[in-house]
Amino acid sequence: MTKKLAVLGSTGSVGKSALQVCRSLGIRVEAISANSDITTLEEQIREFKPALCAVANEKAASDLKIRVADTGVRIVSGKYASETVAAESDCDTVLNSVSGVAGLRPTLAAVESGKTLALANKESLVTYGTHVMSRVREKGVSILPVDSEHSAIFQCLSGQRVRRLILTASGGPFYGKTRDQLEGITPRDALNHPTWNMGSRITIDSATMMNKGFEVIEAAHLFGIAPTSVDVVVHRESIIHSMVEYIDNAIIAEMGVPDMKLCIQYALTYPERVAGPVKQLDLKTLTSFTFGLPDDRAFPLLPFARRAYAMGGVAPAVMNGADEEAVALFLSEKITFTDISDLVIRVTEESPEVKTPSLSDIEAADKWARLRIRELADK
Ligand code: MG
Repeated sequence: MTKKLAVLGSTGSVGKSALQVCRSLGIRVEAISANSDITTLEEQIREFKPALCAVANEKAASDLKIRVADTGVRIVSGKYASETVAAESDCDTVLNSVSGVAGLRPTLAAVESGKTLALANKESLVTYGTHVMSRVREKGVSILPVDSEHSAIFQCLSGQRVRRLILTASGGPFYGKTRDQLEGITPRDALNHPTWNMGSRITIDSATMMNKGFEVIEAAHLFGIAPTSVDVVVHRESIIHSMVEYIDNAIIAEMGVPDMKLCIQYALTYPERVAGPVKQLDLKTLTSFTFGLPDDRAFPLLPFARRAYAMGGVAPAVMNGADEEAVALFLSEKITFTDISDLVIRVTEESPEVKTPSLSDIEAADKWARLRIRELADK
């Protein structure tokens, strides 16, 4: 069980939930990190009294230093500040809830420094999963999933013979719509997720189903299984968070209210279970459970993620970088909703070939993908 925690991305939705869990379980918050939201960071520093705080934005960091000069917290700043926290903080567990590929270096730093990694940053595994998992094995560290589907699978695994993993998907706000009906979708429509309350990038990724594609790759790396043995089923109610099917056809599912705090708490208390802040599921309020197949024509990024994984090399990193950029362009209304999948697929198909990529190959591929997306969007 975690005693001292570093929360990377502490001002985001998962980070804030993690601090609620720490508050309710009395886990010491040793370090926090964020991009630039210093108002929230100041509140967190005053309440949790971490020894170390990282701020990526230099200007925000120097403002924060002045604001919290009376507290004795050490502030580190710059692009690699979260990585410094992961490596140097005196914690036993690093919760990485940084958004996007920016979470990759902090993941590697936590693993290399021998800390337990509670992983909410799926991009670490999407972009460089083979390497990350091989370092996890070599260093003998634990990696505990925080993504709700992977936490569910982790809870359902019993060491018996698995046939397949079944990831559930809410389907996002546009499930049931045809590709034509998706043309005029605005950022406002897309930011309205039916069941999970999350940051804007992952909400758009849920609407396009790119998120589920990333999760197939994440599951393949985390659980050492081929993506062909990871199925996706649409379950609108988001009560079943994922399932494991065994060789005898038994299916074990994990259920509960859709609340990230349970996934975070389990990663922090594993292998124990303790009473915490998450509400009980009231079975009397459940009228029905529905299951359906994803619509691969309307939402092509889910099947395409399997193709990017099969391409290997830097292709998944290109897909992720292209998607981060395309989502940002969509949110600023420079491209349409359906442009996201068209552009991401096109740019990933053009991925440079690199057999065994280094970290700098991954970062170069990410940069290239973003430039290429902007170039195509400008046309
Ligand atoms: Mg998820």
